[in-house]
Amino acid sequence: MPNRIQILSDEAINQIAAGEVVDSPASVVKELVENAIDAEASKITIEIVGGGLKLIRVSDDGMGMGRDDALLSIQRHATSKIRSAHDLFHVKTQGFRGEALAAIASVSKMEIVTAEEGQLGTKLQIEKGEIVKIGSVARTRGTTIEVDSLFYCVPARKRFQKAAAAIGAEIFRLVSNLSLGHPEVGFELISNGQRSLFVMGPSSLEERAREILGQEFLAGKFPLEFAEGEIVLKGFLGSPTNVRPNRTGQHLFINRRLVSCQVLQEAIREGYGTRIDDKRHPLFLLHLSIPSDLVDVNVHPQKTQVRLREEELLRSVFSRAVEKALAVRSEMPRVSFAPRAFDFSVEQEAPLVFNEEPVEQELHFEQESQVVAKFSHYLFLQEGESLELVDLKAVHFRVIFEGLLQEKQCADKQMLLIPFTIGLTPVESAMVLTHQEAIEALGFELRLIAKDAFMVRAIPPFVKEEEVKQIVTYLASALQDFIGKRDYEKERRERLALVAAGFAKKEQFSNDEALLLLKQLKETSSPFHSPKGEPTRITFSYEAIQNLFKAHSKAAKES
Ligand code: ADP
Ligand code: MG
Repeated sequence: MPNRIQILSDEAINQIAAGEVVDSPASVVKELVENAIDAEASKITIEIVGGGLKLIRVSDDGMGMGRDDALLSIQRHATSKIRSAHDLFHVKTQGFRGEALAAIASVSKMEIVTAEEGQLGTKLQIEKGEIVKIGSVARTRGTTIEVDSLFYCVPARKRFQKAAAAIGAEIFRLVSNLSLGHPEVGFELISNGQRSLFVMGPSSLEERAREILGQEFLAGKFPLEFAEGEIVLKGFLGSPTNVRPNRTGQHLFINRRLVSCQVLQEAIREGYGTRIDDKRHPLFLLHLSIPSDLVDVNVHPQKTQVRLREEELLRSVFSRAVEKALAVRSEMPRVSFAPRAFDFSVEQEAPLVFNEEPVEQELHFEQESQVVAKFSHYLFLQEGESLELVDLKAVHFRVIFEGLLQEKQCADKQMLLIPFTIGLTPVESAMVLTHQEAIEALGFELRLIAKDAFMVRAIPPFVKEEEVKQIVTYLASALQDFIGKRDYEKERRERLALVAAGFAKKEQFSNDEALLLLKQLKETSSPFHSPKGEPTRITFSYEAIQNLFKAHSKAAKES
């Protein structure tokens, strides 16, 4: 009997590795651009067609490769950047594993044209990792790598790719991020023949931030500069009033590599303290330089996660640095946690306190229930022997959510007499543009008027004008996170409705509104819970109230 176990062919090994390093066109772009950065390019041009699935071409004016190096470059574990395992702890380049080109070449048709300063250039054609043609060409110093028909030989991977427009937005975001990490380099991104991003190098971090993150980020920014021993942290913090529902606006570079590092992100948030509320995330652009042996970048194939030594030290450096940077201006709006005064009287409205003798403005929830009081967004209803406490905010959430699901809300979208403009970052604009149709289905009408601004012409009835910007970016980034996942189409509507309805944070309800909401609530599919599962009403029996008092008097005696 032949052996059952066999060593895999190089082709199979490379394809398996490719699955880790390159799982999408964006990851190919990332690897190629990082190689260009490592080659000390001063300008990098990225061209994509069809979201990169048809074509990705990255050209640089870096140091180029001689013929022998070019031939080696597509071999697995071939790298000019480290020599031994020891070097792994002192990585100063973006790449070091020597597997990206081999991986990309194994799942595409690739062409490499490269030349060193003053030398005749080399042109290689590679198919499924095999060199099929070698030639000489004349070109100025630098390298151009063209990746054609990505994943053509791995149909399963190809099937799992997102729509071209969505990948386009992802690549836009990626190149924007890379350019924030390397302000000394110029970047140009051309998608389907159109230039979508262009920043010249060399420029300062501040200038690069202005170009990429927009004027708005910089206008309210807090500069941060902090050094402790060999640890240097530098960059800009967004204003505590300019926050986002997720972390898309957070740019943390460790030794110029964009990373997501939860510990440090949390530490930054900590530095903001109570200036922002729990569910919001600040924007920032920070560069951390630390000795390379304090950070292990060899923990993730795409190197987006890192492991830190001296995590606690860095954590405390971050939160102190952020706190110090923010303390510069003291007129910061702070979130106040002071309890509101207990006040049963409802200003400018008929009081709703009518226990014994109901007056003509009686509210009915169900047949036998009656409103005994309204306090902030809570209604107290008496229902037979028990007391119902209704949270009108949760009710409102439920009612709007179901309205959106049934597309009732957009039917009465409000055209604005005076349209207004919202300024976004160019990255956010690209995301909104990608998901414009879905966002508009909720009752918005938007028109792109500049690369970082939309004109708002209509809004859904439950939205306030001053919240539009936040909601639209929230929706776009929620969708962005969602694409590529399974059941996207099916769940998209529900997800959108949930996000949009979550914005209806009305705190005050008139008597008429309260009445109407209670009526509408009865028609919803689950009147007892908000779409997030918070209860809309809590019942206290007479006994439960008695027990509450008993428990309190017991606690009072014991203390
Ligand atoms: P790594 O970047 O981890 O070394 P890669 O597979 O990405 O591995 O690249 C292999 C080698 O090819 C690099 O170490 C580098 O010497 C060379 N190389 C790749 N791209 C370029 C480029 N744009 N310019 C010059 N050399 C390059
Ligand atoms: Mg590389």
